Amino acid sequence: MTLLIVTTTGLCNLRCSYCGGSFPPHLVPPREQYELDDLVSLAEGLDADIAFYGGEPLMNPKLIMDVMDALGPERRYIVQTNGTLFDNLPEKYWLRFDAILLSIDGRREVNDQYRGRGNYDTVLMTAKRLRKLGYRGDLIARMAVWDRSDIFEEVTHLLGLGLFDHVHWQLNVIWTEPWDFRGWAENSYLPGIRRLVSLWMERMREGEVLGIVPFLGIAKVALFGEWRSPPCGAGSETFTLLPDGRIVACPIAVESRWAVVGDIKSGIVRRVEIGEPCTSCSHFKYCGGRCLYTYMERYWGEEGFRDVCFVTKATIDEVLSRVDEIRSLVERGVIRREEIYYPPYDNTTEIIP
Ligand code: SF4
Ligand code: SF4
Repeated sequence: MTLLIVTTTGLCNLRCSYCGGSFPPHLVPPREQYELDDLVSLAEGLDADIAFYGGEPLMNPKLIMDVMDALGPERRYIVQTNGTLFDNLPEKYWLRFDAILLSIDGRREVNDQYRGRGNYDTVLMTAKRLRKLGYRGDLIARMAVWDRSDIFEEVTHLLGLGLFDHVHWQLNVIWTEPWDFRGWAENSYLPGIRRLVSLWMERMREGEVLGIVPFLGIAKVALFGEWRSPPCGAGSETFTLLPDGRIVACPIAVESRWAVVGDIKSGIVRRVEIGEPCTSCSHFKYCGGRCLYTYMERYWGEEGFRDVCFVTKATIDEVLSRVDEIRSLVERGVIRREEIYYPPYDNTTEIIP
């Protein structure tokens, strides 16, 4: 099924250290410049699920409500939000989301260094309010991971809060100037990944599947054979409608000509695909080229690209080394098949960090 990401606005009310806040309005306007009917025709023509994105999508809540009202309950709705503007959207709309991704980067001190003082408490308040409301969809903690993150500590902390169904993360390897990614990965991140996989397996043997999205997504390919390139679907099955009516392959590729695949009136007129060196790579089946944007832009050059590949392959190998045991746990009924089949639909988690 196609996923249409609707960027409701280029505005954001935060300025996180790896992002910088709002898009310039000439690239991503603050409000939609098209008619709602055109969006509805596009979504119906694609038979698409809808994910709301920004900027901060709740800076333009009217569009979210209008889209959900116009398209009705037959499709899934997802929102990626920084979780600070809960009151901008009436409760009944929150309850209609199939998945809510709240941006939070881990422990309070790490999160607030990246995202601003007090942010951790605000986002957790939103998560608690959602739970209190009786929200039963998939509540996902969406982390950005950088040099001050300890992946084991951040992920276990978020899972331990008992608020989130799943934790997903993306490495900060394209959004900022190059940093000592390789050194950090060898000394901190990859040892943390190994510990995290061990913990994941330990709990699985006891019948509990921790909702660690990248591990689940890699295991899903191994166990069920379903994969796509790139794993986020950008440019092949997932498309982003910008407020000016352009349709782009990836929600952050707002000024790249290669990314434009159509517009709201003509629909999607082309696809963008990952090619070499990924298609000949030993890990292509699991990695899928990782990220279309990084693949196309190569901001960190060839060496930077290879450093990210090194980390991707090591992460995939760590999970694959456990697949036989996971299969056996499913066959013996220790864990359920559905718990490992994740994501069950495109919920904007990109799988490969
Ligand atoms: S590991 Fe690197 S080269 Fe291999 S598929 Fe992924 S991005 Fe492409
Ligand atoms: S993983 Fe890369 S290509 Fe996919 S949505 Fe994110 S930035 Fe875009």
